[in-house]
Amino acid sequence: MKLSTIKAKSILVKSNLPASDYVANPYNGCTHRCRYCYACFMKRFTGHNEDWGTFLDVKEYESDKLPKSLTGKTVLLSSVTDPYNPLETKYHKSREVLEHLRGTGAHVEILSKSDLMIRDLDLLRQIPDLSVGISLNTLDDEFRKDMEPGATSVQRRLKALEKLHNAGITTYLFVSPIFPYISNIRALVDAVNGHVDQICFENLNLRGAAKGVIMDYITEKYPQYLDSYKAIYQKGDLSYWEQLEAEINALSKEYAVPFVNYFYHAKIRKGGKDHD
Ligand code: SF4
Repeated sequence: MKLSTIKAKSILVKSNLPASDYVANPYNGCTHRCRYCYACFMKRFTGHNEDWGTFLDVKEYESDKLPKSLTGKTVLLSSVTDPYNPLETKYHKSREVLEHLRGTGAHVEILSKSDLMIRDLDLLRQIPDLSVGISLNTLDDEFRKDMEPGATSVQRRLKALEKLHNAGITTYLFVSPIFPYISNIRALVDAVNGHVDQICFENLNLRGAAKGVIMDYITEKYPQYLDSYKAIYQKGDLSYWEQLEAEINALSKEYAVPFVNYFYHAKIRKGGKDHD
């Protein structure tokens, strides 16, 4: 892992994402190394030639230049890194950002594939308008290890949602990215039932290098689904998603918790969530 400390102009950046006014990314890079990572395009903008997942820049910034009031604004922590990657235990950069946001009046959204935010429970309780989400697309920890080798196990993520919810924190499960035929939606919803205030769903999009990586993986590990993946990702067949959307709508009637469906990035709605 190549570690560096860099000076950032600001830790809060105005966002083009439909659901966030600002994003805070305390790190460049991400040690979770998800095979499908949507954020690896950031290599281009941060001057890194190394493989995604093998570098991490820790951002230093002048906290006194951050806005004092962010009332009515939504801040997402984070969009192109995981704010609770394992090196947060050493650098505390996400905690620093939250300490600042605590008094700004912002609506703060955290989204992570870790359970490390439990460390900050004392601070999270002091942020009046906060929602903490955990991304999880499987209950099969072998698949999780294949796809998200540096991220926290399935069981620890589930436990984190339970702990946060029991501590009075607003929580959500982000079922993302949904892998066709592999992600078991009902099982995931059952696993968090009673521990979350909302469940969001997002389909797997494959772009750039990730497309080949995932198609090779399916060829090797799930050859029985290869033709279906080719139909979805090479021929643009949307019927799988249309059917799954109908199934999720039907499922939502069985559960008291609100469901939010963010299928198809191009159609993402204002008010929705975006993720790393
Ligand atoms: S946690 Fe997010 S930013 Fe990190 S590797 Fe995975 S998808 Fe990429």
